[in-house]
Amino acid sequence: MTSRWVAAARARESARPDGLFVDALAGALAGEAGQRMLAEFEAGAQSPSTEPSDGTVYLAIRTRFFDDRLLAGAASGVRQFVILAAGMDTRALRLAWPAGTRVFEVERTDVLDYKESVLASLGATSRAERILVRQDLREDFGAALELAGFARGEPAFFLIEGLFPYLPNETEASRLLAAVAMLAAPGSSIACDLIGESFLASPWTQPHLRKLASRGVPWQFGTDQPEELLARHGFNEVEVKQPGEVGHGRWPYPTAPRSIPGIPRTYLLVARGAES
Ligand code: SAM
Repeated sequence: MTSRWVAAARARESARPDGLFVDALAGALAGEAGQRMLAEFEAGAQSPSTEPSDGTVYLAIRTRFFDDRLLAGAASGVRQFVILAAGMDTRALRLAWPAGTRVFEVERTDVLDYKESVLASLGATSRAERILVRQDLREDFGAALELAGFARGEPAFFLIEGLFPYLPNETEASRLLAAVAMLAAPGSSIACDLIGESFLASPWTQPHLRKLASRGVPWQFGTDQPEELLARHGFNEVEVKQPGEVGHGRWPYPTAPRSIPGIPRTYLLVARGAES
């Protein structure tokens, strides 16, 4: 359901004349259930600007940020991309990949089955070689990736978008990062987003957090030291951005320096594997 909510947000962004990207498949993938969840998140929320207050603008900025970083990875010569917890991600289909690019989508079976049924009904075709890995990330997804053709000795670009906040604690976040680090040959990169503990603790975010919890998908894990978390797993040269810093003028809130405490924060990150 959360993946279809994000797809609904991408569909909304795609309909804007000044949209940060166009995801023509997002509306169908979201379906009515995704649209409903987006509407629920909007209800009662307040925004300081004309931007919607339902998180759509964050999801739009995040999508564009990772689009740009993934394509920069491809421009630098990487040809293996691994999208973990891919949900309704359509990047394999919509981005302008160089010839020979392979995009692995790792997701739970039921989610990928739904996605494939929608894509098939639309006759959608992929611009990269798209390889589906039906796999729970709590199990050995590295083995599943290799079985699917992932080349462990070659550099890869790993994306973990919209997953970390749902993990129960830092132990689980670390376990996931350690498993990715095992797969990351020299020249590899990782991109992910994280919320801060500040986000979990702030009175401003409690209505949003309560809605997630009441849907059975609570946000539980955050850190305001994202560089340290990644560095502990060998990912260095960390680029950290707050959404307002890469928001193309769309982020409706002020961006306070990270040294100021008590502000609910989210982070967009890209880092290089230690041996790069
Ligand atoms: N990355 C996608 C995006 O940004 O559009 C989807 C984000 S969605 C908020 C979170 C996704 O994590 C869901 O698609 C869900 O199925 C997936 N997920 C959660 N736990 C998982 C697990 N243990 N194994 C595989 N996928 C999982």
